[in-house]
Amino acid sequence: MIPRSLIIPEDTKLVVAGFDEAAKRDGLLPIKISDFYAKKVEEEVRVVGGGMGPLYRCVLPGADRFASRVSGEVGDFIGDKINMPEELRDVLIWKYDDRVLFLPTDNCASNCQYCFRTAYLSDRHGSKPFTLEEKVTKLIEFLGEHPQIEEVILSGGDPMVMAPKDLEMILRRLKEEAHVQHIRIHSRTLVYSPFVYTEACCNMLAKYRVRLVHHIAHPYEICDVVKEHIKRLHAAGVRQYNQFPLLRNVNDHIDVLKELLIELDELGIRNLSIFAPDPVNFSSPFRISLKRQFALMDELNWTSPAWVQSTRYALDNPAGKVRKEDFVRFEKNPDGSEIGIFIRKGKEIRYPDFPEELDVPGKRKILLWKN
Ligand code: SF4
Repeated sequence: MIPRSLIIPEDTKLVVAGFDEAAKRDGLLPIKISDFYAKKVEEEVRVVGGGMGPLYRCVLPGADRFASRVSGEVGDFIGDKINMPEELRDVLIWKYDDRVLFLPTDNCASNCQYCFRTAYLSDRHGSKPFTLEEKVTKLIEFLGEHPQIEEVILSGGDPMVMAPKDLEMILRRLKEEAHVQHIRIHSRTLVYSPFVYTEACCNMLAKYRVRLVHHIAHPYEICDVVKEHIKRLHAAGVRQYNQFPLLRNVNDHIDVLKELLIELDELGIRNLSIFAPDPVNFSSPFRISLKRQFALMDELNWTSPAWVQSTRYALDNPAGKVRKEDFVRFEKNPDGSEIGIFIRKGKEIRYPDFPEELDVPGKRKILLWKN
């Protein structure tokens, strides 16, 4: 679904035209762009002159979209499916003792090209085994059986695209029936369709003490309209955070990272983490070698003030998250591809690396084309 007004640049016309067909075949999400975001992409294409701009690459396939696949890419790298209790498929993911991820919807305001949950979300299109009410009931029963769970994280899909009455029903039942201590919502709707944050919506989030975690990945996603809605959320008393993936040719430059983190700080949003792009199928255009990821994070630490660098850098995997401090060495697979070895709580985690020869960094003048 591409807004009709959006002019697709010549260098990507072919890949865009065939994308939805390829997506259906390969378990990716179809193109979907909100009008609000499309306007920003349009402005960027006019300046950059093709499909290499950072916002373009978030929602539309670049010419390199299917160019390379590398060793270690799988459908579900972080193990969403193996962490879904059998009878609760499509309802929740339970990976950490004290928190559970609830999946109320498989819709998003726009579909991100880099989505690491693409295999799971694309699987689900069309298959809805439970109604929303049934899902919430199952979640509440599950919470009753597992009193050690203190936090419910609403993710998906993007919970903020749900009808306000459905969202309120979930929040109310979680508080009244399950007495959940902490509720977190992860959402990218602020950058795609900020208008969902009406005064009534902000008040509802505040009423249920929701922690709202935005996924803003590039400083140009924050415009005056977005700022206005951030202020409205603050005014209602909603606690706002952010986290984002480190993405090649989107934000893989120290100046982009600093600009984003400084802007978030100015707006009173705490960035919780920067995470490595998972090695899922067709993720190559966004992946970065471990050595360069580590170097970027070191540079961020060495060259920015505490209020910019006080963010976590994490690599997700089926066993849970690891950090740079957990890295111990590189090893080679029999096919010659490299693996980063991390040790976490005595357990060895083998993380597929992205080949350095394919890791062509984003250019500053394109990534920060407004500056
Ligand atoms: S908003 Fe999140 S879940 Fe939805 S497509 Fe983007 S990354 Fe995936």
